[in-house]
Amino acid sequence: MENIYDIVIVGAGPAGMTAAIYAIRANMRVLLLDRLSPGGQMINTNEVENYTGAGRLSGADLAIKMFEHTQELGVAFDYKTVVDIAVGDAVKTVTCEEDATTYKTRAVILATGTVPRRLNVPGEAKWAANGISWCAICDGAQYRGRDVVVIGGGNSAVEEAIYLAGICTRVSIVTLFDLTADPKACDRLRSMPNVSVYPYQDVLEFTGEERLAGVRFKSTREDATECLVTCDGVFEYIGLQACSEAFARLGILDRSGCIEVDARMRTRVPGIFGAGDITVKHLRQIVTACADGAVAANSAASYVESLR
Ligand SMILES: Cc1cc2nc3c(=O)[nH]c(=O)nc-3n(C[C@H](O)[C@H](O)[C@H](O)COP(=O)(O)OP(=O)(O)OC[C@H]3O[C@@H](n4cnc5c(N)ncnc54)[C@H](O)[C@@H]3O)c2cc1C
Repeated sequence: MENIYDIVIVGAGPAGMTAAIYAIRANMRVLLLDRLSPGGQMINTNEVENYTGAGRLSGADLAIKMFEHTQELGVAFDYKTVVDIAVGDAVKTVTCEEDATTYKTRAVILATGTVPRRLNVPGEAKWAANGISWCAICDGAQYRGRDVVVIGGGNSAVEEAIYLAGICTRVSIVTLFDLTADPKACDRLRSMPNVSVYPYQDVLEFTGEERLAGVRFKSTREDATECLVTCDGVFEYIGLQACSEAFARLGILDRSGCIEVDARMRTRVPGIFGAGDITVKHLRQIVTACADGAVAANSAASYVESLR
């Protein structure tokens, strides 16, 4: 008989790993896939302070704890990049980039999250990953004792700016609106002596010849004053883009590329479920991703049972 999984979970961030835990505990035959190390965006998060019961711990530690939990329960995991999902009557085929490997499954949970959005201004492509970074926890140490600019004013921008202010000489925050993050985090950032905030600014370009030298921006206020801040590095946090290209032909995405789900995490295709940041939702956090994963696994298990 052909080897068929009950549930294949695409993406091993908090949503996918929680889905795996709930699915295997519902006696499902589960396969968890990720193109990178398990953990998703948690791996790039310096400190997590708002995951219930966990106190303050590093994102990487939380990622390891969650993955260990899946392994203690016997969840099968593989490093694979999913590029297509074909929907048959009761059996779906998940196709991966690596050697065009395919897996047969009765249900699929899509938990592929998001990647950072880019500004698309002059100089960005030239200095990407060589002066401009999207991950302070990965690249911040390179700028110890140097000057950096953080672009954005939301939770990620403010949290990462706080982290950078602890290691860099000067941190300038350039944001299109005012700081919109958690008020406590904004207060903490503003109280740091080496931090300057430039609100209501539109980034025009990244300057530099041999290396990144600065950020030029213009006020969105009536005066439209231009300003150039010199720096050694830039960290961009201007929003997220859904990792959903592989699922476009399923007809389950909204205009922004996020997966439309109902309250039970069902998409409009029977047997295909969504969970976490990839779905249309208001609050993208670890705790909400985990909650989505639990609901999606519960719904997927009910769906698989209904086929028997
Ligand atoms: C800098 C930063 C700081 C943050 N700080 C906090 C915080 O303090 N507290 C908090 O609660 N939240 C925080 N968040 C948000 C939180 O990390 C996310 O909401 C959460 O990780 C979303 O989980 P997820 O499982 O939906 O997606 P992700 O964590 O994005 O995981 C998705 C996974 O899918 C994989 N994947 C994508 N496409 C494919 C594919 N085609 N095939 C196979 N695998 C694929 C990716 O490699 C990834 O591992 C932060 C986010 C950032 C960026």
